[in-house]
Amino acid sequence: MSDLDDLYREVILDHSRTPQGKGDPSVEAHTHHELNPSCGDEITMGATVAADGTIASLHWEGAGCSISMASASVMSDLLAGSSRDDAFARIDEFREMLRSRGAIEPSEELEDAAAFQGVSKYVMRIKCAMLGWVALEACLKESQAD
Ligand code: ZN
Repeated sequence: MSDLDDLYREVILDHSRTPQGKGDPSVEAHTHHELNPSCGDEITMGATVAADGTIASLHWEGAGCSISMASASVMSDLLAGSSRDDAFARIDEFREMLRSRGAIEPSEELEDAAAFQGVSKYVMRIKCAMLGWVALEACLKESQAD
């Protein structure tokens, strides 16, 4: 059993027990609904970006497998309060890591999100792990048009 597997299990458990960022997304300036039909996961992400480009507030609600829910929670922890540009960079990095089939080592900037590296071996689960991140990316893109 590798350290990464242990970390992965721990992160999933922690965030399943106490999901971060869970709350009413409709209070935020931008919301986006994302569905993963292959697994049945659903999420509505809401984000409010301040005039200086900082993600001032972020809330989501959803239902689905533990990977999708824990990943949305980890992302909320990581990206709430960061700048929109940093968030785009982290989302890109997370996506590249998952698509690399384990070839790309996550940087320290991904923090707990690095634990999802193992998911990249299971093509069907990549969409689960990406769900919340894709939804936030859509909110942030929309906020750029403000
Ligand atoms: Zn799923």
